[in-house]
Amino acid sequence: MALKIHNTLSGEKDPFELPEGSRVTMYVCGVTVYDECHVGHARALVVFDMIQRYLKHLGYNVVCVRNFTDVDDKIIKRANEEGVTCDEIASRYIHEFREDVGRLGLLQPAYEPRATEHIADMIGMISTLAEKGHAYEVAGDVFFAVSSFSDYGKLSGRNLEDLRAGARVEVDEKKRNPLDFALWKKAKPGEPSWDSPWGRGRPGWHIECSAMSLKLLGETIDIHGGGQDLIFPHHENEIAQSECCTGKPFARFWIHNGHVMIRDEKMSKSLGNFFTLKQVYEEYEPRILHFFLISKHYRSPLDFSKEGLSEAREALSRLDNCLGSVENAIPQETIEDVRKNRGKVRVSLDIDIKEPPPPSKHKWWQLFETAMHDDFNTPGALAAIFMYVGEINNELKLGYGSGSKVDQISLVDKYDDLRKLCDILGICYKPLRQTTVSLKGEGSVDRGRIERLLGKENLEDEEVTLLVEERLRLRKIREYGKADEIRNSLKSKGISLRDVQEGTNWIRE
Ligand SMILES: [Zn+2]
Repeated sequence: MALKIHNTLSGEKDPFELPEGSRVTMYVCGVTVYDECHVGHARALVVFDMIQRYLKHLGYNVVCVRNFTDVDDKIIKRANEEGVTCDEIASRYIHEFREDVGRLGLLQPAYEPRATEHIADMIGMISTLAEKGHAYEVAGDVFFAVSSFSDYGKLSGRNLEDLRAGARVEVDEKKRNPLDFALWKKAKPGEPSWDSPWGRGRPGWHIECSAMSLKLLGETIDIHGGGQDLIFPHHENEIAQSECCTGKPFARFWIHNGHVMIRDEKMSKSLGNFFTLKQVYEEYEPRILHFFLISKHYRSPLDFSKEGLSEAREALSRLDNCLGSVENAIPQETIEDVRKNRGKVRVSLDIDIKEPPPPSKHKWWQLFETAMHDDFNTPGALAAIFMYVGEINNELKLGYGSGSKVDQISLVDKYDDLRKLCDILGICYKPLRQTTVSLKGEGSVDRGRIERLLGKENLEDEEVTLLVEERLRLRKIREYGKADEIRNSLKSKGISLRDVQEGTNWIRE
Protein backbone atom coordinates (compact mmCIF):
# COMPACT_ATOMS: atom_id res chain seq x y z
CA MET A 1 0.00 0.00 0.00
CA ALA A 2 1.51 3.29 -1.09
CA LEU A 3 1.13 6.58 0.70
CA LYS A 4 -1.09 8.86 -1.35
CA ILE A 5 -0.92 12.61 -1.02
CA HIS A 6 -3.23 15.17 -2.54
CA ASN A 7 -0.99 17.19 -4.83
CA THR A 8 -2.28 20.66 -5.65
CA LEU A 9 -0.14 20.57 -8.80
CA SER A 10 -1.96 17.57 -10.31
CA GLY A 11 -5.24 18.12 -8.49
CA GLU A 12 -5.19 14.44 -7.52
CA LYS A 13 -3.99 12.06 -4.85
CA ASP A 14 -0.62 10.96 -6.19
CA PRO A 15 1.40 8.03 -4.83
CA PHE A 16 4.41 9.17 -2.84
CA GLU A 17 6.93 6.50 -3.69
CA LEU A 18 10.52 6.57 -2.53
CA PRO A 19 12.64 3.73 -1.16
CA GLU A 20 12.62 3.48 2.63
CA GLY A 21 15.42 5.47 4.21
CA SER A 22 15.39 8.07 1.43
CA ARG A 23 16.01 11.71 2.18
CA VAL A 24 12.77 13.67 1.82
CA THR A 25 13.14 17.41 1.40
CA MET A 26 10.32 19.64 2.56
CA TYR A 27 9.91 23.41 2.57
CA VAL A 28 7.09 25.00 4.53
CA CYS A 29 6.35 28.72 4.26
CA GLY A 30 6.64 30.21 7.74
CA VAL A 31 5.23 33.28 9.41
CA THR A 32 5.83 36.98 8.90
CA VAL A 33 7.14 38.11 12.25
CA TYR A 34 5.30 41.34 13.04
CA ASP A 35 2.77 40.11 15.61
CA GLU A 36 1.81 37.18 17.81
CA CYS A 37 0.84 33.79 16.37
CA HIS A 38 -2.85 33.00 16.12
CA VAL A 39 -4.71 29.72 15.71
CA GLY A 40 -4.67 30.04 11.92
CA HIS A 41 -0.85 29.97 11.95
CA ALA A 42 -0.85 27.13 14.46
CA ARG A 43 -2.93 24.95 12.17
CA ALA A 44 -0.37 25.10 9.34
CA LEU A 45 2.45 24.43 11.80
CA VAL A 46 0.65 21.46 13.35
CA VAL A 47 -0.41 20.02 9.98
CA PHE A 48 3.10 20.01 8.55
CA ASP A 49 4.46 18.64 11.81
CA MET A 50 1.99 15.75 11.52
CA ILE A 51 3.07 15.14 7.91
CA GLN A 52 6.72 15.22 8.87
CA ARG A 53 6.12 12.79 11.73
CA TYR A 54 4.25 10.36 9.52
CA LEU A 55 6.96 10.41 6.85
CA LYS A 56 9.52 9.72 9.59
CA HIS A 57 7.38 6.86 10.83
CA LEU A 58 7.52 5.40 7.30
CA GLY A 59 11.30 5.43 7.54
CA TYR A 60 12.13 8.56 5.56
CA ASN A 61 14.86 10.92 6.56
CA VAL A 62 12.90 14.17 6.43
CA VAL A 63 14.83 17.44 6.11
CA CYS A 64 12.47 20.33 6.74
CA VAL A 65 12.97 24.06 6.25
CA ARG A 66 10.56 26.58 7.73
CA ASN A 67 11.41 30.24 7.28
CA PHE A 68 10.74 33.47 9.10
CA THR A 69 9.80 36.37 6.83
CA ASP A 70 11.60 39.20 8.58
CA VAL A 71 11.54 41.89 5.90
CA ASP A 72 8.10 42.95 4.77
CA ASP A 73 5.74 45.95 4.55
CA LYS A 74 3.90 44.96 7.74
CA ILE A 75 7.12 44.73 9.74
CA ILE A 76 8.27 48.11 8.42
CA LYS A 77 4.91 49.66 9.31
CA ARG A 78 5.00 48.29 12.84
CA ALA A 79 8.62 49.36 13.36
CA ASN A 80 7.81 52.90 12.23
CA GLU A 81 4.74 53.04 14.49
CA GLU A 82 6.80 52.02 17.50
CA GLY A 83 9.89 53.97 16.51
CA VAL A 84 12.15 50.93 16.62
CA THR A 85 14.12 49.04 13.95
CA CYS A 86 12.65 46.26 11.82
CA ASP A 87 15.20 43.93 13.34
CA GLU A 88 13.85 44.67 16.83
CA ILE A 89 10.30 43.87 15.73
CA ALA A 90 11.38 40.67 13.96
CA SER A 91 13.53 39.47 16.86
CA ARG A 92 10.76 40.16 19.37
CA TYR A 93 8.18 38.16 17.44
CA ILE A 94 10.56 35.32 16.65
CA HIS A 95 11.06 35.06 20.40
CA GLU A 96 7.29 35.10 20.97
CA PHE A 97 6.83 32.50 18.24
CA ARG A 98 9.34 30.17 19.91
CA GLU A 99 7.57 30.59 23.27
CA ASP A 100 4.03 30.06 22.01
CA VAL A 101 4.64 27.45 19.34
CA GLY A 102 7.22 25.68 21.51
CA ARG A 103 4.41 24.68 23.87
CA LEU A 104 2.66 22.72 21.12
CA GLY A 105 5.44 20.10 21.24
CA LEU A 106 6.24 20.15 17.51
CA LEU A 107 9.37 18.74 15.87
CA GLN A 108 12.08 21.29 15.30
CA PRO A 109 12.74 21.85 11.56
CA ALA A 110 16.30 21.13 10.36
CA TYR A 111 16.61 24.77 9.27
CA GLU A 112 14.72 27.85 10.44
CA PRO A 113 16.28 30.63 8.36
CA ARG A 114 15.41 34.30 8.51
CA ALA A 115 14.97 35.84 5.07
CA THR A 116 17.49 38.60 5.79
CA GLU A 117 20.20 35.98 6.30
CA HIS A 118 19.87 35.05 2.62
CA ILE A 119 19.81 38.39 0.79
CA ALA A 120 22.93 37.43 -1.23
CA ASP A 121 21.25 34.20 -2.40
CA MET A 122 18.20 36.17 -3.50
CA ILE A 123 20.33 38.70 -5.39
CA GLY A 124 22.14 35.81 -7.10
CA MET A 125 18.86 34.28 -8.18
CA ILE A 126 17.44 37.57 -9.46
CA SER A 127 20.64 38.15 -11.45
CA THR A 128 20.30 34.74 -13.09
CA LEU A 129 16.67 35.45 -13.95
CA ALA A 130 17.66 38.79 -15.49
CA GLU A 131 20.45 37.16 -17.53
CA LYS A 132 18.03 34.55 -18.84
CA GLY A 133 15.51 37.20 -19.85
CA HIS A 134 12.88 36.41 -17.21
CA ALA A 135 13.36 39.60 -15.23
CA TYR A 136 13.70 43.29 -16.12
CA GLU A 137 14.79 46.36 -14.23
CA VAL A 138 12.94 49.66 -14.20
CA ALA A 139 14.67 52.44 -12.28
CA GLY A 140 15.91 50.35 -9.38
CA ASP A 141 12.94 47.95 -9.24
CA VAL A 142 13.23 44.47 -10.74
CA PHE A 143 10.17 42.57 -11.93
CA PHE A 144 9.57 39.01 -13.03
CA ALA A 145 8.06 38.81 -16.52
CA VAL A 146 5.24 36.26 -16.21
CA SER A 147 4.82 36.07 -20.00
CA SER A 148 8.36 34.57 -20.19
CA PHE A 149 7.19 31.43 -18.36
CA SER A 150 4.69 29.41 -20.39
CA ASP A 151 3.73 27.26 -17.36
CA TYR A 152 2.61 30.27 -15.32
CA GLY A 153 -0.69 29.36 -13.65
CA LYS A 154 -0.11 25.60 -13.54
CA LEU A 155 -0.43 25.36 -9.76
CA SER A 156 -3.57 27.44 -9.35
CA GLY A 157 -4.99 25.90 -12.53
CA ARG A 158 -5.53 29.21 -14.28
CA ASN A 159 -4.06 30.62 -17.45
CA LEU A 160 -2.65 34.09 -17.91
CA GLU A 161 -5.83 35.41 -19.51
CA ASP A 162 -8.08 34.29 -16.61
CA LEU A 163 -5.61 35.64 -14.13
CA ARG A 164 -5.43 39.00 -15.84
CA ALA A 165 -9.20 39.26 -15.91
CA GLY A 166 -9.69 38.18 -12.28
CA ALA A 167 -6.67 39.64 -10.60
CA ARG A 168 -6.85 42.72 -8.47
CA VAL A 169 -3.25 43.71 -8.89
CA GLU A 170 -1.81 47.00 -7.80
CA VAL A 171 -1.48 49.43 -10.64
CA ASP A 172 2.15 50.11 -11.38
CA GLU A 173 2.94 51.73 -14.68
CA LYS A 174 6.49 50.44 -14.44
CA LYS A 175 5.32 46.87 -15.04
CA ARG A 176 5.07 45.53 -18.57
CA ASN A 177 2.22 43.23 -17.53
CA PRO A 178 -0.04 43.83 -14.51
CA LEU A 179 0.68 40.27 -13.29
CA ASP A 180 4.44 40.80 -13.25
CA PHE A 181 5.65 40.81 -9.66
CA ALA A 182 8.49 42.51 -7.82
CA LEU A 183 11.69 40.55 -7.25
CA TRP A 184 13.56 43.56 -5.92
CA LYS A 185 12.19 46.86 -4.61
CA LYS A 186 14.09 50.11 -4.77
CA ALA A 187 14.97 51.52 -1.34
CA LYS A 188 12.60 54.05 0.19
CA PRO A 189 13.47 56.32 3.10
CA GLY A 190 12.85 54.66 6.47
CA GLU A 191 13.07 51.13 5.07
CA PRO A 192 15.81 48.56 5.54
CA SER A 193 17.91 48.16 2.38
CA TRP A 194 20.85 46.26 0.97
CA ASP A 195 23.33 46.87 -1.86
CA SER A 196 22.55 45.16 -5.14
CA PRO A 197 23.46 45.40 -8.85
CA TRP A 198 20.31 47.56 -9.19
CA GLY A 199 21.23 49.96 -6.39
CA ARG A 200 20.08 49.82 -2.77
CA GLY A 201 16.82 48.08 -2.10
CA ARG A 202 15.13 45.08 -0.54
CA PRO A 203 13.77 41.80 -1.90
CA GLY A 204 10.12 41.26 -2.82
CA TRP A 205 8.33 38.66 -0.71
CA HIS A 206 8.17 35.70 -3.09
CA ILE A 207 11.86 35.40 -3.94
CA GLU A 208 12.93 34.55 -0.39
CA CYS A 209 11.33 31.09 -0.31
CA SER A 210 12.72 30.14 -3.72
CA ALA A 211 16.22 31.27 -2.78
CA MET A 212 16.28 29.60 0.63
CA SER A 213 14.76 26.37 -0.70
CA LEU A 214 17.34 26.23 -3.50
CA LYS A 215 20.20 27.01 -1.16
CA LEU A 216 19.28 24.69 1.70
CA LEU A 217 17.50 21.82 -0.05
CA GLY A 218 18.57 21.81 -3.71
CA GLU A 219 16.98 22.42 -7.10
CA THR A 220 14.05 20.02 -6.89
CA ILE A 221 12.45 19.30 -3.53
CA ASP A 222 9.95 16.59 -2.63
CA ILE A 223 7.33 18.63 -0.80
CA HIS A 224 6.44 22.29 -0.63
CA GLY A 225 3.74 23.25 1.80
CA GLY A 226 1.72 26.08 3.22
CA GLY A 227 -1.82 27.36 3.73
CA GLN A 228 -4.32 27.35 0.87
CA ASP A 229 -4.23 31.12 0.64
CA LEU A 230 -0.60 30.89 -0.52
CA ILE A 231 -1.40 28.98 -3.73
CA PHE A 232 -1.88 32.20 -5.65
CA PRO A 233 0.11 34.29 -6.08
CA HIS A 234 2.88 33.27 -3.65
CA HIS A 235 3.43 29.64 -4.65
CA GLU A 236 2.65 30.26 -8.31
CA ASN A 237 5.36 32.91 -8.28
CA GLU A 238 7.80 30.67 -6.41
CA ILE A 239 7.41 28.07 -9.17
CA ALA A 240 7.93 30.63 -11.91
CA GLN A 241 11.12 32.07 -10.38
CA SER A 242 12.61 28.74 -9.37
CA GLU A 243 11.92 26.85 -12.58
CA CYS A 244 13.08 29.72 -14.80
CA CYS A 245 16.26 29.96 -12.74
CA THR A 246 17.23 26.27 -12.62
CA GLY A 247 15.35 24.81 -15.60
CA LYS A 248 14.22 21.99 -13.29
CA PRO A 249 10.89 21.22 -11.59
CA PHE A 250 10.75 23.07 -8.28
CA ALA A 251 8.70 20.71 -6.10
CA ARG A 252 7.20 17.28 -6.79
CA PHE A 253 4.35 17.63 -4.29
CA TRP A 254 2.46 20.76 -3.30
CA ILE A 255 0.49 20.34 -0.09
CA HIS A 256 -1.92 22.99 1.19
CA ASN A 257 -3.86 23.05 4.42
CA GLY A 258 -7.37 24.46 4.84
CA HIS A 259 -8.26 27.57 6.78
CA VAL A 260 -9.38 27.91 10.36
CA MET A 261 -12.87 29.40 10.31
CA ILE A 262 -14.84 31.45 12.79
CA ARG A 263 -18.53 31.63 12.02
CA ASP A 264 -18.00 30.94 8.30
CA GLU A 265 -15.18 33.45 7.95
CA LYS A 266 -11.49 32.72 7.62
CA MET A 267 -9.59 33.49 10.82
CA SER A 268 -7.10 36.17 9.90
CA LYS A 269 -5.29 39.13 11.23
CA SER A 270 -6.77 41.42 8.61
CA LEU A 271 -10.38 40.48 9.48
CA GLY A 272 -9.62 40.89 13.18
CA ASN A 273 -11.44 37.65 14.07
CA PHE A 274 -8.48 35.77 15.46
CA PHE A 275 -7.45 34.18 18.74
CA THR A 276 -3.77 34.23 19.63
CA LEU A 277 -2.17 31.12 21.04
CA LYS A 278 -1.65 32.94 24.34
CA GLN A 279 -5.39 33.64 24.57
CA VAL A 280 -6.23 29.99 23.94
CA TYR A 281 -3.65 28.80 26.47
CA GLU A 282 -5.36 30.83 29.19
CA GLU A 283 -8.19 28.31 29.13
CA TYR A 284 -6.83 25.22 27.41
CA GLU A 285 -3.58 23.32 27.68
CA PRO A 286 -1.48 23.57 24.50
CA ARG A 287 -1.88 19.81 23.94
CA ILE A 288 -5.67 20.30 23.74
CA LEU A 289 -5.25 22.87 20.98
CA HIS A 290 -2.84 20.53 19.20
CA PHE A 291 -5.32 17.65 19.37
CA PHE A 292 -8.12 19.91 18.17
CA LEU A 293 -6.04 21.01 15.17
CA ILE A 294 -5.44 17.46 13.96
CA SER A 295 -8.98 16.29 14.64
CA LYS A 296 -10.18 17.34 11.21
CA HIS A 297 -8.66 16.44 7.82
CA TYR A 298 -5.92 18.93 7.02
CA ARG A 299 -7.48 20.05 3.73
CA SER A 300 -10.94 20.77 5.18
CA PRO A 301 -11.87 24.07 6.74
CA LEU A 302 -11.75 23.80 10.53
CA ASP A 303 -14.36 25.59 12.65
CA PHE A 304 -12.77 27.08 15.71
CA SER A 305 -15.08 26.92 18.72
CA LYS A 306 -15.09 26.33 22.45
CA GLU A 307 -17.22 23.24 21.87
CA GLY A 308 -14.54 21.84 19.58
CA LEU A 309 -11.83 22.49 22.15
CA SER A 310 -13.95 20.94 24.92
CA GLU A 311 -14.44 17.83 22.81
CA ALA A 312 -10.69 17.65 22.32
CA ARG A 313 -10.20 17.96 26.07
CA GLU A 314 -12.65 15.12 26.72
CA ALA A 315 -11.03 12.88 24.14
CA LEU A 316 -7.61 13.45 25.66
CA SER A 317 -8.83 12.69 29.14
CA ARG A 318 -10.34 9.41 27.88
CA LEU A 319 -6.92 8.57 26.49
CA ASP A 320 -5.13 9.59 29.70
CA ASN A 321 -7.54 7.53 31.76
CA CYS A 322 -7.08 4.48 29.60
CA LEU A 323 -3.28 4.60 29.72
CA GLY A 324 -3.32 5.29 33.46
CA SER A 325 -5.68 2.38 34.08
CA VAL A 326 -3.27 -0.02 32.40
CA GLU A 327 -0.43 1.33 34.51
CA ASN A 328 -2.55 0.84 37.61
CA ALA A 329 -3.55 -2.67 36.66
CA ILE A 330 -0.14 -3.99 35.69
CA PRO A 331 2.99 -3.48 37.78
CA GLN A 332 5.71 -1.44 36.12
CA GLU A 333 8.20 -4.35 36.36
CA THR A 334 5.82 -6.55 34.41
CA ILE A 335 5.47 -3.86 31.72
CA GLU A 336 9.27 -3.62 31.48
CA ASP A 337 9.59 -7.38 31.39
CA VAL A 338 7.09 -7.73 28.55
CA ARG A 339 8.96 -5.06 26.58
CA LYS A 340 12.31 -6.75 27.15
CA ASN A 341 11.05 -10.09 25.93
CA ARG A 342 8.96 -8.84 23.06
CA GLY A 343 9.58 -10.81 19.90
CA LYS A 344 11.45 -13.55 21.75
CA VAL A 345 10.06 -17.03 22.11
CA ARG A 346 9.04 -17.16 25.71
CA VAL A 347 10.11 -20.22 27.61
CA SER A 348 8.71 -20.12 31.05
CA LEU A 349 7.25 -22.72 33.35
CA ASP A 350 4.33 -20.69 34.56
CA ILE A 351 3.07 -19.60 31.19
CA ASP A 352 0.86 -21.46 28.89
CA ILE A 353 2.74 -20.26 25.80
CA LYS A 354 0.46 -18.66 23.33
CA GLU A 355 2.14 -15.71 21.66
CA PRO A 356 -0.07 -12.72 21.01
CA PRO A 357 -0.06 -11.48 17.41
CA PRO A 358 2.83 -9.09 16.70
CA PRO A 359 1.71 -5.59 17.69
CA SER A 360 2.19 -4.06 14.24
CA LYS A 361 -0.37 -6.47 12.82
CA HIS A 362 -3.12 -5.48 15.17
CA LYS A 363 -6.28 -4.46 13.32
CA TRP A 364 -6.49 -0.99 14.84
CA TRP A 365 -2.88 -0.35 13.89
CA GLN A 366 -3.72 -1.36 10.33
CA LEU A 367 -6.77 0.86 10.32
CA PHE A 368 -4.59 3.74 11.52
CA GLU A 369 -2.07 3.24 8.70
CA THR A 370 -4.75 2.79 6.07
CA ALA A 371 -6.26 6.11 7.10
CA MET A 372 -2.92 7.92 7.22
CA HIS A 373 -1.82 6.46 3.88
CA ASP A 374 -4.92 8.01 2.36
CA ASP A 375 -3.72 11.62 2.26
CA PHE A 376 -3.03 11.84 6.01
CA ASN A 377 -6.59 11.18 7.09
CA THR A 378 -6.14 12.08 10.75
CA PRO A 379 -9.85 11.75 11.70
CA GLY A 380 -9.64 8.12 10.53
CA ALA A 381 -6.38 7.63 12.40
CA LEU A 382 -7.88 9.08 15.59
CA ALA A 383 -10.87 6.77 15.20
CA ALA A 384 -8.42 3.83 15.18
CA ILE A 385 -6.70 5.18 18.29
CA PHE A 386 -10.02 5.38 20.12
CA MET A 387 -10.97 1.88 18.96
CA TYR A 388 -7.85 0.80 20.82
CA VAL A 389 -8.88 2.79 23.86
CA GLY A 390 -12.28 1.10 23.79
CA GLU A 391 -10.77 -2.36 23.45
CA ILE A 392 -8.28 -1.82 26.27
CA ASN A 393 -10.97 -0.39 28.54
CA ASN A 394 -13.14 -3.40 27.84
CA GLU A 395 -10.39 -5.81 28.70
CA LEU A 396 -9.70 -3.94 31.92
CA LYS A 397 -13.37 -4.01 32.80
CA LEU A 398 -13.47 -7.74 32.28
CA GLY A 399 -10.46 -8.04 34.59
CA TYR A 400 -8.42 -8.70 31.47
CA GLY A 401 -9.51 -12.26 31.18
CA SER A 402 -8.17 -14.35 33.98
CA GLY A 403 -5.41 -11.81 34.71
CA SER A 404 -3.03 -14.48 33.45
CA LYS A 405 0.41 -13.73 32.10
CA VAL A 406 -0.75 -14.16 28.52
CA ASP A 407 -3.49 -11.57 29.07
CA GLN A 408 -1.00 -9.23 30.67
CA ILE A 409 1.36 -9.54 27.70
CA SER A 410 -1.42 -8.81 25.26
CA LEU A 411 -2.57 -5.83 27.29
CA VAL A 412 0.95 -4.37 27.52
CA ASP A 413 1.37 -4.83 23.77
CA LYS A 414 -1.81 -2.90 23.14
CA TYR A 415 -0.85 -0.24 25.64
CA ASP A 416 2.52 0.25 23.90
CA ASP A 417 0.86 0.26 20.48
CA LEU A 418 -1.55 2.92 21.62
CA ARG A 419 1.27 5.11 22.89
CA LYS A 420 3.22 4.65 19.65
CA LEU A 421 0.22 5.64 17.52
CA CYS A 422 -0.21 8.77 19.64
CA ASP A 423 3.50 9.56 19.26
CA ILE A 424 3.26 9.27 15.48
CA LEU A 425 0.66 12.05 15.46
CA GLY A 426 2.45 14.06 18.13
CA ILE A 427 -0.43 13.70 20.60
CA CYS A 428 0.69 14.55 24.11
CA TYR A 429 -0.85 12.17 26.67
CA LYS A 430 -0.54 12.10 30.45
CA PRO A 431 -1.51 8.72 31.86
CA LEU A 432 -3.83 9.25 34.80
CA ARG A 433 -2.32 6.99 37.39
CA GLN A 434 -4.01 6.07 40.59
CA THR A 435 -1.96 5.53 43.71
CA THR A 436 -3.19 3.55 46.68
CA VAL A 437 -2.06 4.78 50.06
CA SER A 438 -2.52 2.77 53.22
CA LEU A 439 -1.72 3.68 56.78
CA LYS A 440 1.64 2.37 57.88
CA GLY A 441 2.29 2.27 61.63
CA GLU A 442 1.86 5.32 63.84
CA GLY A 443 5.11 7.24 63.28
CA SER A 444 5.56 10.87 64.18
CA VAL A 445 3.86 13.55 62.11
CA ASP A 446 5.66 16.70 61.02
CA ARG A 447 2.72 19.12 61.45
CA GLY A 448 4.73 22.02 60.08
CA ARG A 449 5.44 20.17 56.85
CA ILE A 450 1.79 19.16 56.47
CA GLU A 451 0.73 22.80 56.84
CA ARG A 452 3.30 23.89 54.27
CA LEU A 453 2.12 21.26 51.79
CA LEU A 454 -1.50 22.32 52.21
CA GLY A 455 -0.46 25.81 51.13
CA LYS A 456 1.68 24.64 48.22
CA GLU A 457 0.40 24.99 44.64
CA ASN A 458 1.97 22.12 42.71
CA LEU A 459 2.52 18.98 44.74
CA GLU A 460 4.94 16.20 43.85
CA ASP A 461 3.61 12.64 43.96
CA GLU A 462 5.35 11.85 47.28
CA GLU A 463 3.89 14.98 48.80
CA VAL A 464 0.37 14.03 47.80
CA THR A 465 0.93 10.57 49.24
CA LEU A 466 2.13 12.10 52.50
CA LEU A 467 -1.02 14.22 52.78
CA VAL A 468 -3.28 11.29 51.98
CA GLU A 469 -1.52 9.24 54.65
CA GLU A 470 -2.02 12.04 57.16
CA ARG A 471 -5.71 12.16 56.28
CA LEU A 472 -6.00 8.43 56.96
CA ARG A 473 -4.28 8.90 60.32
CA LEU A 474 -6.65 11.74 61.25
CA ARG A 475 -9.66 9.65 60.32
CA LYS A 476 -8.40 6.83 62.46
CA ILE A 477 -8.31 9.10 65.51
CA ARG A 478 -11.71 10.52 64.51
CA GLU A 479 -10.44 14.00 63.60
CA TYR A 480 -12.86 14.13 60.69
CA GLY A 481 -12.86 17.91 60.34
CA LYS A 482 -9.13 18.08 59.83
CA ALA A 483 -9.24 15.06 57.53
CA ASP A 484 -11.82 16.81 55.34
CA GLU A 485 -9.63 19.89 55.19
CA ILE A 486 -6.92 17.80 53.54
CA ARG A 487 -9.38 16.27 51.09
CA ASN A 488 -10.72 19.70 50.13
CA SER A 489 -7.26 21.16 49.76
CA LEU A 490 -6.25 18.30 47.44
CA LYS A 491 -9.45 18.66 45.48
CA SER A 492 -8.71 22.33 44.84
CA LYS A 493 -5.38 21.18 43.38
CA GLY A 494 -7.10 18.75 40.98
CA ILE A 495 -6.43 15.62 43.01
CA SER A 496 -9.33 13.41 43.93
CA LEU A 497 -9.53 10.69 46.56
CA ARG A 498 -11.51 7.52 46.79
CA ASP A 499 -11.55 5.42 49.93
CA VAL A 500 -11.14 1.71 49.33
CA GLN A 501 -10.69 -1.30 51.57
CA GLU A 502 -6.88 -1.13 51.59
CA GLY A 503 -6.75 2.62 52.22
CA THR A 504 -7.27 5.53 49.80
CA ASN A 505 -6.74 5.86 46.05
CA TRP A 506 -5.65 9.22 44.72
CA ILE A 507 -5.64 10.39 41.14
CA ARG A 508 -4.82 13.61 39.32
CA GLU A 509 -7.81 14.79 37.31
ZN1 LIG B 1 6.89 31.00 0.92
